Parts: sequence; C-alpha cells; structure tokens
Amino acid sequence: MRLAAVLGHPVAHSRSPALHNAAYRALGIDATYVAIDVPPASLEQALGGIAALGFMGVNITVPHKEAALRACDEVDEVARLCCAVNTIVVDAGGRLAGYNTDVEGFRRSVEETLGRVPPRAVVLGAGGAARAVTLALAQAGATVRVVARNVEKARHLHDLGAYDVLPWRAESLEPTDLLVDATSIGLGAESEAAAPPLPLDALPDGALVASLVYHREPALLAAARARGLRTLDGAGMLVHQAAAAFTLMTGRPAPLEIMRAAFGTSPAS
Ligand code: NDP
Repeated sequence: MRLAAVLGHPVAHSRSPALHNAAYRALGIDATYVAIDVPPASLEQALGGIAALGFMGVNITVPHKEAALRACDEVDEVARLCCAVNTIVVDAGGRLAGYNTDVEGFRRSVEETLGRVPPRAVVLGAGGAARAVTLALAQAGATVRVVARNVEKARHLHDLGAYDVLPWRAESLEPTDLLVDATSIGLGAESEAAAPPLPLDALPDGALVASLVYHREPALLAAARARGLRTLDGAGMLVHQAAAAFTLMTGRPAPLEIMRAAFGTSPAS
C-alpha cells in the first residue's frame, strides 16, 4: 500500500484525507492518505523522512507552505512565484518536487462558475492565498487590483501580475467583475466576521463575490447575496487543488465528482 498525507499544524480538521481516500477507492488505487500534525520546528525533519517511509507525496497546509518550499529539492515555476508549496511529490530517486496547486484550484473554480476568468478583478489581502489568487487571475489575463491594509507589504504582488495595489478603504473597490476576499478575516474573533470587510456599493449587478472560506458563510458573501450578487465560496478551490495534487501524486486523472461528493460528506472544521 502506498502512503500520502497532509502536513499542517493544526490539521485535524482537514478535509484532504476524505477527498483523496475517496478518489483512491473509486479508482482502485491501493493507497491511504492521513492527516499528520507537524509543529513548525519539526517540518524539516518530517519532510526529510517521507521518501524513506515510502510516501508517494504529501500536501502542505498552514503554517508550512513557505517553509516547505525551502525543503524541496526542486520547485516548479508557479510555486516559486507564489513563494509557497502545497504539494510535494517524491520521485523515483527519493527527491522532493514542490508544486502549488492552489493557483490552478482557484482558477478552475472561477471558470466553473463563470465559464471564464473575467477581465477585471479586485483581490482583498496580501498573504499566501492572495498571492495564489492574484497569480491565477493575472496569468488568465485579468487586470487585478489588490486592496490591502498594509500597502507596502502588498507591493510584492506586482511581481505576480497585480496591476495596482490600493489602500484598505471603500473607494478602492471600484467597479469590477470579480471581488475575491483572500484575507483571513473571520478566522479568529467572531465579532470581526459579523460585518463585511468593505461595503459592496461600487460593485455592478453582474459581479461575482468570492471568498476562500469553505466551512461557513462569511459576512461578505451574505451581504453580497442580500444585494443580489452571485457568490462563490472556497469549496471549489479546495476540491480543484486536491484534484490537481492527486494527479501529480498518482499520475492519474482525478475523479472530480467523487472528490466533490466526499467534500460534502466529510466532517466540517
Ligand atoms: P495569511 O495569514 O497568509 O494572510 C492573511 C491576509 O489577510 C493578510 O494579508 C492580512 O493582512 C489580511 N487580513 C487579516 N485580517 C485583516 C483585516 N481585519 N483587515 C484587512 N486585512 C486583513 O493567510 P492565507 O493567505 O494563508 O489564508 C487566507 C484565507 O484563505 C484563510 O481563510 C484560509 O483558510 C483561506 N484559504 C483557502 C483555501 C482553499 O482551498 N479554499 C486555500 C488557501 C487559503 P496583513 O498582511 O496586513 O497582515
């Protein structure tokens, strides 16, 4: 039996084992996928052992995506641009190859909803997820404006194709086809999540409002729905990044609908 895992801290809530194990079962692949809690101080040691333990690959989640990049023997261009690895494949020689499937995951979830990536987008935030989203949209040809509370910190997003980096205020939300909240707002205090981070008045009626959160409806999406706007949560991104990681690790096309169904039935975080 082959092994795969998601490494994170904490990681007990992860839905990745449910998605990957359902895919293995559906395709008759003799493998099992587990969640392993690895504290930051132990990541290098843990990754140093996966080849010897016979893993075909691992996924990497919070807070290890940047450190994992440094632990790989090679990384692809997308992971290098994002400064983050979320998938590691162990090759026949035991070398670790790093990839970032969050970028493809987000692009595919938007394409699935709209049929294409729209020409104008605004991305909120300047962290790891904002990097993946900005790169996905810019590579697909969108003009991307980033709105961040720390504009200086967000300037590096120009390197990923962001057209503009704007301060965190309502006037920065000029008319756009797609608004993506890639911040971590609401992950902590509930009071922070009670109101949408910015007013949606400037958005045209046809705009799509997206969040990367998938375990509950954030205030931003509730406000967008109340205004009659289309919404997209983070479930599609999660399933599509898992599908891309499955293909990298197994060399097989992912059974997307099986993985999507497994997402719906796996325990919520
Ligand atoms: P990071 O910690 O790297 O970045 C968070 C960003 O949010 C930072 O830019 C931070 O600002 C900003 N931020 C936080 N609070 C506020 C606030 N009150 N006002 C304005 N900006 C704020 O987190 P990640 O990028 O890794 O993750 C972001 C979100 O994306 C999380 O909810 C995560 O769960 C989700 N995610 C979902 C995925 C999926 O597959 N669906 C995949 C990856 C992530 P500053 O820079 O000033 O600190």
